[in-house]
Amino acid sequence: MKYEPVIGLEVHVELATESKIFCGCPVVDSVEAEPNIAVCPVCSAMPGTLPVVNERAVEYAMRVGMALGCKIEPVSIFARKNYFYPDLPKGYQISQFEEPLATNGEMLIETEDGEKVIRVLRAHLEEDAGKLTHVEGASLVDLNRAGVPLLEIVSQPDMHSAAEARAYAENLREILRYLGVNSGDMEKGVIRFEANTSVRPVGTEKLGIRTEVKNLNSFRSMEDAINCEIARQSKVLDEGGEVDQVTMGWDEEKGQTYVMRGKEDAHDYRYFPEPDLPPLKVDDAWRKRVRADLPELPRAKFERFLADFKLSEYDAKVLVSDRAIAEYFEETVNNGAKPKAVANWMTGELFALMNQTEVSIDEIKVTPKALAELISLVSEGKINKNTAKEVLGEIFKSGKNPQAIVEKKGLAQVSDTALISGFVSSVINAHPDEVTSYRSGKTGVANWLFGQVMREARGRANPQILREELMKQLDG
Ligand code: ZN
Ligand code: MN
Repeated sequence: MKYEPVIGLEVHVELATESKIFCGCPVVDSVEAEPNIAVCPVCSAMPGTLPVVNERAVEYAMRVGMALGCKIEPVSIFARKNYFYPDLPKGYQISQFEEPLATNGEMLIETEDGEKVIRVLRAHLEEDAGKLTHVEGASLVDLNRAGVPLLEIVSQPDMHSAAEARAYAENLREILRYLGVNSGDMEKGVIRFEANTSVRPVGTEKLGIRTEVKNLNSFRSMEDAINCEIARQSKVLDEGGEVDQVTMGWDEEKGQTYVMRGKEDAHDYRYFPEPDLPPLKVDDAWRKRVRADLPELPRAKFERFLADFKLSEYDAKVLVSDRAIAEYFEETVNNGAKPKAVANWMTGELFALMNQTEVSIDEIKVTPKALAELISLVSEGKINKNTAKEVLGEIFKSGKNPQAIVEKKGLAQVSDTALISGFVSSVINAHPDEVTSYRSGKTGVANWLFGQVMREARGRANPQILREELMKQLDG
């Protein structure tokens, strides 16, 4: 039978605040920092301590909620989610349950069949747990991460392929980075996915029984786990069986999902309102303040780049994918360079240099002003494109001014027709066989001869003049 997958995502996002959500401990790098250096009586659950909500964490959560078009609830409630695990010293996680901070938003994604709206059910605040490291014969507990603010964003089951789930997740990451609330550093686990997947016969409405795959830390493993579940569940149904409602893990090496435990229901956690925290109230003034500070979001920027700069959709998409890159582009344009040329130089040569050296746009020595200058040297005919590439490589290394490099190295383009004509004559004299074969109809040889002349001119000849002179002498 043909089955239609139905997928919903729960995304846990670490909010990049300075301090934890309910105490003053700093948020430290979960990979680099020494274990248990950012721990206090509150986040290690000493008796008699009380939580206090971090205002910045609430604001970050509001930003995300607003960016997703959610309603920011005037009152939301923290609750205790009770369970035991060694990385959770209190024996419960403070989370929002019945009344979350943000509700009913949506996100637009691109799919094979065009644009599609994915509804967002809710986004709620909670605290992260610590981290366990299993060594031989023991498990080590690191509480640096315990109490780091998390925003859990829950979608409706509106996605119907792993590719759609990935598009949703990638868009979300882009938005989070734009908002400055998350680094997007997936290797550090700052964004984690849980995928709810079920399948149903194509054409039917009733939802099938779903499984939940936990702890997916990359787009790739999320996509693979969903595809694995789609295939597995389809097979179970084809063989006349029933899908069990279970919580699963993902075995990266085997590329398989595995059952971790039977599915727990909300009531198993004995949720009840957190008695140590008052209801979280957001008034109009606070909401307005946060909204006023929202940056232009990727989608709006994309539309504006298309309209204002007449870029191709591809270029606009690449340039808005990162806020710093988009800002660099605009600044270069503001320095007088043509948008299309800036897009070409950035997505071509500049990104290539950045990839080779693994530096980000914030770290490069080429300023937007220098790139704009380089582009105008080309458009004014002072240097040709190949020379410009060489110069860009030089600026990239030294941060020097393009004009200075051109002068110092004598790279200025040769546009002197007589001089170029001389180079052409000497090449033609040196290669009589090639000239004969050109004249007997093998016109492709002209390109080879062009290359020889350019070499003679040490790459600096104005290519248009060179071609004209070459054709004149070959055909004349
Ligand atoms: Zn603490
Ligand atoms: Mn959660």
